[in-house]
Amino acid sequence: MNWMPHVALAFALAHAFNVAAGVAWTLPLFAVVFLGAILPDVDHKKTRIFKFALVAVAALVFAAAYQTISLDNPARAVAAALAAALAAIAVSILKPRHRGITHHPLAALVFGLAAYALTREMGVAANGVIAYASHYLSDRLF
Ligand SMILES: [Zn+2]
Repeated sequence: MNWMPHVALAFALAHAFNVAAGVAWTLPLFAVVFLGAILPDVDHKKTRIFKFALVAVAALVFAAAYQTISLDNPARAVAAALAAALAAIAVSILKPRHRGITHHPLAALVFGLAAYALTREMGVAANGVIAYASHYLSDRLF
């Protein structure tokens, strides 16, 4: 749950892989390793990644609702804020149990596939799998 050991271990393992495989550090690679290290704990309400995800979902729902609701302000803003609040409550209620599906080995593969889909780089995908999988090890060590 403490993000720093997760991030430190992920970067250490990713760096060892990158040196061995000749993969150069890039900004997307850095982002994937950082996100892969902390993303599994999105299933815990006290983590920064959960709080960030909650705010991101609420902000996206607010923006989408504000764009689509055909009311005049301030009713439009209030309705969009209500939609955002309901979305945040839904995420809070529907979040998976801690160390459930987000801590499953298949989740690491899905994360790697998502990284590949976004970047089309095998090095980024491999680093995503390594970083995400390192989270399991880090959970047991720290
Ligand atoms: Zn964890």
